[in-house]
Parts: sequence; C-alpha cells; structure tokens
Amino acid sequence: MDKVEYLREQLAELATSGLENQIRHVDGPQGARITVDGRNVLNFCSNNYLGLANDPRLISAAKTALDRYGIGPGAVRTIAGTMTIHDELERKLAEFKGVESAISFQSGFVANAGAIPALVGGGDVIVTDEFNHASIIDGVRLAKADRKIYRHADVEHLDAQLAEARRQGAGHILIITDGVFSMDGDIAPLDAIVETADRYQAMVMVDDAHGEGVLGRGGRGIVDHFGLHGRVEVEVGTMSKAFGVVGGYVAGPEPVVKWLRQRARPFLFSSAATPPDVAACIASIDILGESTALVDRLWANAGRFRQAMNGLGFDTGSTATPITPVMLGEEETAREFSRRLFDDHEVFAQAIAYPTVPMGEARIRVMISAAHSPEDLDLGLAAFAAVGGTMGVIDDK
Ligand SMILES: *Cc1c(COP(=O)(O)O)cnc(C)c1O
Repeated sequence: MDKVEYLREQLAELATSGLENQIRHVDGPQGARITVDGRNVLNFCSNNYLGLANDPRLISAAKTALDRYGIGPGAVRTIAGTMTIHDELERKLAEFKGVESAISFQSGFVANAGAIPALVGGGDVIVTDEFNHASIIDGVRLAKADRKIYRHADVEHLDAQLAEARRQGAGHILIITDGVFSMDGDIAPLDAIVETADRYQAMVMVDDAHGEGVLGRGGRGIVDHFGLHGRVEVEVGTMSKAFGVVGGYVAGPEPVVKWLRQRARPFLFSSAATPPDVAACIASIDILGESTALVDRLWANAGRFRQAMNGLGFDTGSTATPITPVMLGEEETAREFSRRLFDDHEVFAQAIAYPTVPMGEARIRVMISAAHSPEDLDLGLAAFAAVGGTMGVIDDK
C-alpha cells in the first residue's frame, strides 16, 4: 500500500482544476529584465521595488562581511552570542523607522509567527483584518488569545469588534493590519485605526512589508506616511522586498523589543540570518537614508504606468501604491492573458487567482519598480494593449 497515494490524488485534482502552482525558473540576478525559463523577459513580478536586489553596493557589503565574519552564524544568538553586525542592523533599523528599538528575524513571515504569540496570550483578544497576510493568520493561530476578524479596512466594524471584546472582559487587545495589502495595493486606514484603538486601550500592530521603501519620507513606511510616530506599538517588516535582501524584523518601543528577545520562539530557537545577508541589509538602509531618489523614481514609474493602463481601458482596482492589479475576472482569462504576455511579448507578469484572491476576481498583478526604464514601461504597456485587444478585454484601438 502506497502511503502517499492520497497526496498523488490531491495533486492530480489540483492539476485538473487548474489550481496547481506552476513555478518558472530564473537564471541570473533580479532586475528590470530577467532570464526566465531560458528567455530574457521584462520583469513585472518581483517585489524588488527599488532595484536593490542586484545593487553593487549591497553585493560589495556582503562580500566584505563574508571575509570578516564567515558564512554561518553558528547557533541561535542567545546561545552562540550575537555578532556585532546583527546589533548594527537593529540599531540602523530603529533609527530608520524612528522608533526606540528593533529586533531582527530570519524573515517577515517568521517575525509575524514569532511576535504575535509572544505579545498576547490566554484571556487576550486579537482583532485582525480579513485580508491580512498568511503569516499574520498563522501567527494569530499560534497565539492562545481569542480572535476576532473585522471586514477589510472597515474601521466601523473594527470599532464594533473592539467594543464586543471589552464587553466580554478582554485582557490585552492587539489590532493587526497589513500596511499595504499585497493583492490590491490599497493602504490600511492606519490613522483611523490608531484613533479607534486609543478609545479601547488596544495595541496596534502593522505589517509594513509592502510599505517600507515605498511609503513615507524616503520610504520610511506607513507610520511615517500618516505621521503616527510613537502611536503604533508593533511594526513588522521584511528585508526581502524594497530592501532587496532577505530577513524580517519587529520595530517599536523598548519593552516590546526587549520582551521579544526573551520570548519570541524563532529568536530563541532558530539561527540568525547569515552575515553577508545582514551586511547587505545594512547597506540597503544606508542607501535609503542618503537619498530619496530611488523612492521618487518608483512613484513616478508607478503613476505613469497606472495612468496609461487606465487610459487603455484597464481596471486597476483600488490600488494607491506601485502594486498594480489588472482586474480580469475569470481565473482562465487571467491565466491565458499572462501566458500570452510571456509567450508573445516577453513580459513576465503573473496571474493571481483563487485561492489567493476571491473567486471571480482573478487578475494580473504588475509590480512596478524603480529599476524599470521608460522603455521598459512602454514595452509593457504595448504588450498589455495588444493582448487586451486580441482577447477582447479592452476595446481594440
Ligand atoms: C511578503 C510579506 C511577508 C513575508 O515576508 P518574507 O520576509 O518574505 O517572509 C509578510 N507580511 C506581508 C504583508 C508580506 O507581504
């Protein structure tokens, strides 16, 4: 008897229903153009917002750190000791975010999964946006606190959930929201959320994964964008998107960060990021600290692309950021559109369908980057116009 037959059956089901993830193979560094499955294509898929993933300054910092610290961190920081380079990263992160303190994790996913169950427990309540990222959902599941979900970005519903939690005698309350929602590109109403939180003495945690390096002064993130410094208890972030490397962190007031050093399980039981990764992260923060040029260019590119797409007749949904969803509806339409962009126009833009987004709301998500040249954007627009025209998604002009 084949003990994994059930998996074979489930995989076959995924394949026949068209829900199987097809992963393409990339050879070479991330950039505006990349080599995918052996072809040089325009890259509209990466979270490399500022083009830092292949920046020579990050690469050189990583090489220097490799020579000085070697490759492996040895063990978890509480046992093997912490390398000075990890401390330096945390200091620079705290300074960049304008908070007292920061703690780094192996990834953004791990930061959420580690922080949430450490901050609240039995008798406490977590109030969470229905569209929050999977890593928040898993972090909430790991916590012993009760969970209440509020409708996406609906502050009135949040208020009602908070009122109910207080009526039911909740201990500590933690509100959690994505800063920028990754499938639609809309920004959480963090100012209204913080005001509501204050009325119920609730803590606020925001996941700024798609906001840092994008929103706020020189990319300092959503808290800076709304001018809410000192009013958000927990900021989670990733080094894998705009910062161009890999890693995660939590930034906030001293007691939050100190507590996580004592109780966040991935900090205590999983080894830290490697020295070259950490050095590249530091270089990335330094670049953002020196100039707003990359962030400015990102926004100019995003504005130009979205306007032109709307002019062509495409629906780009509710985005307010460089994440540009091209709403197509049926799953099959989105997949076919993406296939034609790739096969006929050398444009790599991924279709996103159920279960990542609701059924019937399939789309192609275009990720605009500062790395795109005007010619790249022109080529992308021409490809969307051609495929949209032949598929009847927009009027053929
Ligand atoms: C991408 C993302 C993460 C995960 O970050 P990694 O560093 O890639 O693990 C967490 N939260 C949100 C909102 C994200 O978009």
